Amino acid sequence: IWADVLGYVRKNISEVEYHTWFAPVKNLGVQEGSLVLGVRNSFAQEWFRKHYLELLEDALRSLGAQNPQVSFQVLPAAQDALLLPSDPPPPPPTPAGRAVPASAPVENRKVLNPKYTFENFVVGPNNNLAHAAALAVAESPGKAYNPLFIYGDVGLGKTHLMHAVGHYMTERFPGKRIEYVSTESFTNDLINAIREDRMTQFRNRYRSVDLLLVDDIQFLAGKERTQEEFFHTFNALYENHKQIILSSDRPPKDIQTLEGRLRSRFEWGLITDIQSPEYETRVAILKMNAEHNRIDIPQEVLELIARQVTTNIRELEGALMRVVAFSSLNNVPFSRAVAAKALSNVFTPQEVKVEMMDVLKQVAAHYNMPPDVIRGSGRVREVVLPRQVAQYLIRELTDHSLPEIGQFFGRDHSTVMHAINKVTEQVGREPEITAAVETLRRKMQGLEDDEN
Ligand code: ADP
Ligand code: MG
Repeated sequence: IWADVLGYVRKNISEVEYHTWFAPVKNLGVQEGSLVLGVRNSFAQEWFRKHYLELLEDALRSLGAQNPQVSFQVLPAAQDALLLPSDPPPPPPTPAGRAVPASAPVENRKVLNPKYTFENFVVGPNNNLAHAAALAVAESPGKAYNPLFIYGDVGLGKTHLMHAVGHYMTERFPGKRIEYVSTESFTNDLINAIREDRMTQFRNRYRSVDLLLVDDIQFLAGKERTQEEFFHTFNALYENHKQIILSSDRPPKDIQTLEGRLRSRFEWGLITDIQSPEYETRVAILKMNAEHNRIDIPQEVLELIARQVTTNIRELEGALMRVVAFSSLNNVPFSRAVAAKALSNVFTPQEVKVEMMDVLKQVAAHYNMPPDVIRGSGRVREVVLPRQVAQYLIRELTDHSLPEIGQFFGRDHSTVMHAINKVTEQVGREPEITAAVETLRRKMQGLEDDEN
């Protein structure tokens, strides 16, 4: 039935919309007469309620439902990792303890998100050490660093990197067994195994692998029985030179109530962190994402998005989705203004962040003059005025200090201050300058379409 619903939906919306919104949805089955769909985040949940509820109800009606009901549920992060975009929904997880085939690369793929590969991982100064370590481990599992411990805030690519190692090993060393598990499922598995008296099977499952990926290990905190069991799992694998990769939101020393013997083991190998991505890395990630989803979106729009969302990559992708959805629902082409509007519920327009180079470019376009000439040494009024306006707007619209602005223009800070004072005096008095400053300011804040 879910396939039929998707078929109906697909016929009624654009391809881009379908891929953006429906491909990642997970069918959670029917609960109390309502079709429950799992979505990635609360933003998607809200979006579905607002924009797709009726469409989905129509779809169900077309399939004969009398009183169709649909609800949306945000998937926990661990389940999200199991999503297979554009593939049929994954089969229910193997009940813990059922015999697992001794070697099965196809099995591995089932739990690895196909999107989370090394090829799809953008490397930047924020994550290059973690990336290099993961690659080293993938190339010589059990030999390079064991365990590899990756930590960093949520949404920065820890799960992605772990899966990438899994994919790499699956391809490079077919037949190797790989197990990816969140600390939460490990714990649940253990509880079930104890209750149902299946400890041997539990141990076989985790101790017979070549690569064990355990995500969000910080959740071991305070769980004594799980820590005990994990300690033995760890030892068994380690002694057999099997690779272990752990992720956490903090380094081992900061995980409270973690047994000393586990903590010290986590520190045996290599500990590496992932930080928030820099602006350039964020743009590159958005670009890759857009290409992947075959969305043709101008670079400057990606740049605007990258300035809005600075810490979390999952949120960054969410912002891109939002812009894509906004423009397709309103049937308008992508532009900085459209993006600013699409994001304005999440980020107030004042928060639109601009860079010095943007301001310079806009001013240059306004005065119909190459940016380099404005930054150059020319002293004639035709050049000096745009230069002063640019410095004035940069001071107003960015967080840069006078010396920084000076450096950007190859001048000292007192020259910049003089320029700013000059423009300040003239705004409100000189109609031409007033108009220029106002137009440019509006453009830069994304309030006006700069396409025309
Ligand atoms: P974490 O496990 O650290 O919370 P995830 O691995 O789930 O973060 O990453 C969140 C999202 O960001 C995923 O969709 C992932 O593909 C994407 N992502 C993270 N880092 C990168 C990167 N360097 N390049 C491309 N995509 C990335
Ligand atoms: Mg994760």
